[in-house]
Amino acid sequence: MTNKNITILLILLTSLFFNSLSCFANTDQRITDIRFWQSPEEAQVVLDLILPPKVSEVNRLDNGTLYFDIKSCLFKPGKQRYALQNQFLESLTVQQNEDSSTRVHFKVPQGVEAKTFVLPSNERKNDRIVIFLREPKAKILLKQSAELNEVKKLKAENIKIVVLDPGHGGEDPGTTCNGIVEKSYVLAMAKLVKAYFDRDPRYKAIMTRESDYIIPLDKRREIAERLGADAFVSIHVNWNAKKAIAGIEVYYESPKGAVNEADRLVADKENKADFASLGTMNPVIAASKNQIAQMQANIMDQSRQLAEKIENKLAKAVPNLQSRGVKRAGFRVLHSLNMPSVLVECGYTSNRLDSEILKDYTSRTKIAQSIYAGISNFLQTKVEGGIDSEYLEYYRAMNARKAKIEAAKKKAAAKNKTNTKTKLNRKHTVKHGDTLSAIAQKYGVTVQSIKTANKMKKSDIIKSGQVLVIPSK
Ligand SMILES: [Zn+2]
Repeated sequence: MTNKNITILLILLTSLFFNSLSCFANTDQRITDIRFWQSPEEAQVVLDLILPPKVSEVNRLDNGTLYFDIKSCLFKPGKQRYALQNQFLESLTVQQNEDSSTRVHFKVPQGVEAKTFVLPSNERKNDRIVIFLREPKAKILLKQSAELNEVKKLKAENIKIVVLDPGHGGEDPGTTCNGIVEKSYVLAMAKLVKAYFDRDPRYKAIMTRESDYIIPLDKRREIAERLGADAFVSIHVNWNAKKAIAGIEVYYESPKGAVNEADRLVADKENKADFASLGTMNPVIAASKNQIAQMQANIMDQSRQLAEKIENKLAKAVPNLQSRGVKRAGFRVLHSLNMPSVLVECGYTSNRLDSEILKDYTSRTKIAQSIYAGISNFLQTKVEGGIDSEYLEYYRAMNARKAKIEAAKKKAAAKNKTNTKTKLNRKHTVKHGDTLSAIAQKYGVTVQSIKTANKMKKSDIIKSGQVLVIPSK
C-alpha cells in the first residue's frame, strides 16, 4: 500500500467516523423499551420512544415478513431478535440500520391482522409505536358462536351470568399509589370475587380480562351484552389528591351520562350498521329516542337496586372501611341498555388507612365476598318493578332546553335572513320635499355615505323620482 493510498483510506475512515458520529449526535431519538401485551383475541407490541417518531410505511418482503423504519432513531443493542412466538407473532427483530434509522421486522401467522400506529405522549407515557395484532375475524366469530351456544345452555338451566370487569390493564395502569397498582389489584380482586361465584352452582361468572391487557371501555360492556349478562360489575380502586378522602363507593349511570348516550345512539348510524352486519336486530335500531329513554330509565332503576345491594354488603365488610354510599356518574362502562351495570370503587389508594386495608389479605377476601354477596342478593331477590323517574325528568328537561335553544337558533337565523334581504334591497325613491339629511336620518346612515353609495358629487342635488341606493349601516 502506498502512502497516498493510506492517506485516502485514513480520510475515508475519518470521514466515516465523523459521519457516523454526526449521525448519532443528530438524534436524541431512541427506543427505550419494547413491551408485549396479549389478550385472547388481540396482541400489541409497544415500542417506547423519547420523541415523536417518523415512521415509514409498512412494507412486505417476499417471504411475508413485514417491516418499517423509524427514521433517525437509535437502538442500543444494535440488533435484537425477540422470542415472542405465539398465535399472533412468528418473529420480531429490531435492528439499527447503518444510516442511523432503526428497522423493525415482524412476521405474523396467516390471517392475523396487523396494524401499526403511533401513540402520542401523555402525562404518563412517552411517544410510542404500536403494532396491533388481531386473530383472523373468522376465528373470532367461531369462538363467539361457541360461547353463545354455551350461554344458551346456561340460560336454559336458569344459571345466572355475571360479568366481572377488572378496570384498566396493559398500557393503562389506573391509579398507582401507596404500593397499589390499580390494574393488578383489581384483576386479583375480580379473580377473588369470581372464585366465590365458581363455588356457587347458581352462577356462571366471566371476566372481561383474565390477565394484563387493555380493553376499550365500550368493548367491556359489549362483551357482557354479547354474553347476555344478568349483571355487569366493573371493579376499581380510587385516588384523590385530598388524602383524607376514604371509603368505598358504588356507582351507577347518571342522568347526564344517559342523556348523552341516548343522543349518541340516535345519531350513531354506523353503530346501527354494525348491528345490522352481525345479522342481529338490536331493539335500539327500531326505537325512537323517547323509547330509548324509557329503556334507559328501566335498566337504570335495576342498576340502582344492584348498586344498593352491593353497597349494603360492602359497608359492613371491613370495620374501618367506610362507605361513601351509592353514587351516579356517566362512566362509559355503565351505558348498557340490556343489563344492570355498576362500578365498584373498593377504596382510596391515596388514603393511608384505606390502602393498608386494601393490601390486607383478610380484608381483601371480605371485600370480594361482599361484592359476591351483593350481586347474589340482587339476582336472587325479585327485582322491584320501577323506573328511574329522576332520569326521565332530567331527560324531558334537557329535551325541552334543547328544543328551546334550537327554536331560538332558528328564529335568529330567520331574522338574519330577512335582515340581509332588507339590507340588500334598501332603495329609496325620492319624493317631493325630501332632503338628503332627512333620508339619511330615516335610514340611520350619514349623508356622506348616501352620496358615496350613489357616486354623487358635492354639488349634486336630488330630484323627485330619483332612486337612491341606501348603504347598510
Ligand atoms: Zn379505575
